[in-house]
Amino acid sequence: MTRIDDLPIRDELRGQSPYGAPQLDVPVLLNTNENPYPLPEPLVERIAERVAEAARHLNRYPDRDAVELRTRLAAYLSRTAGHTVGLPQVWAANGSNEIIQQLLQTFGGPGRTAIGFEPSYSMHALISRGTGTGWISGARNDDFTIDVANATAQIRELRPDVVFICSPNNPTGTAVAAETVLALYEASLAAGPSMVIVDEAYGEFSHRPSLLPLIDGRPTLVVTRTMSKAFGAAGLRLGYLAADPAVVDAVQLVRLPYHLSSVTQATALAALEHTDALLGYVEQLKKERDRLVDGLCGIGYEVTESDANFVQFGRFTDAHAAWQAILDQGVLVRDNGVPGRLRVSAGTPAENDAFLAAARTVFKEYS
Ligand code: PMP
Repeated sequence: MTRIDDLPIRDELRGQSPYGAPQLDVPVLLNTNENPYPLPEPLVERIAERVAEAARHLNRYPDRDAVELRTRLAAYLSRTAGHTVGLPQVWAANGSNEIIQQLLQTFGGPGRTAIGFEPSYSMHALISRGTGTGWISGARNDDFTIDVANATAQIRELRPDVVFICSPNNPTGTAVAAETVLALYEASLAAGPSMVIVDEAYGEFSHRPSLLPLIDGRPTLVVTRTMSKAFGAAGLRLGYLAADPAVVDAVQLVRLPYHLSSVTQATALAALEHTDALLGYVEQLKKERDRLVDGLCGIGYEVTESDANFVQFGRFTDAHAAWQAILDQGVLVRDNGVPGRLRVSAGTPAENDAFLAAARTVFKEYS
């Protein structure tokens, strides 16, 4: 049998594992930070209408520049994120993972480096490697906030080409203060400048305002967003960025022609017509997130403050054994490899009750 290593693959890919959140068939799935609510029926019908219309033109390539979609995304951000942006400042792709890949293809690549402050979203490092960009692992404080003095020193000294700031941070849930972003941005100017990518995949769930206004007058600062979480549309694969129009022009140098299918564009446009209903679910999930925090603290767990739709909790003597014990009760949470901690996504009230009951039974034995 041929193994991967028998093939002439690139050296930096040898021995690596693919991104792999386990997809198991259990009653309560709280492991991938999805939105637990199916799309509302009127929206499902609107998607069917819009997709039927798109299907009539599938003999043609899609709108390569996704003009209508980007205009609507810009209007959504302008209305909800505290800063007015227009079509030239917004770019869309198949999930924010593809946005990050396009940014790394544009600003990273062989001979260049990116830095992120770990534990953080593992795909920042993986997509860096996949694009031939060297990865620098920056550290966090014990409370999972970014150690600003250390981070700015690392940026000044190592002069990375890309700086990742994930806010709220996955898997810890930690929001990043605007002053921290500004301090890292200032350091990044001294370094060259580097591109600062603020990953706001969970921005809508935060207690704090969006960091989007910071792009104003800062052409090397990018904010990335997704419809996978707040819009409850992980299956759609639609991510986007907002930045200076020059950044939008630059990523077009690497994007594949017609990367965003007509069906994707039609579906995303339908979802954007139902923004208010979808943001109603976000409010419910924020309440459930806060209830999870209270419930876990009540049991006696150490809980990391969360601004996302998930909660990091511990400390376990053996996090993986605790993960398995919770799974044995039909609840799948996530072991992100953070020592002594696990992560649970906010689900429906019934799912969260099932999780809290399981978390209560494993507390004594594993923490
Ligand atoms: N950024 C962060 C911080 C994430 O957690 C995720 C998804 N888990 C993504 C980006 C990518 O999301 P998508 O590609 O679905 O937009």
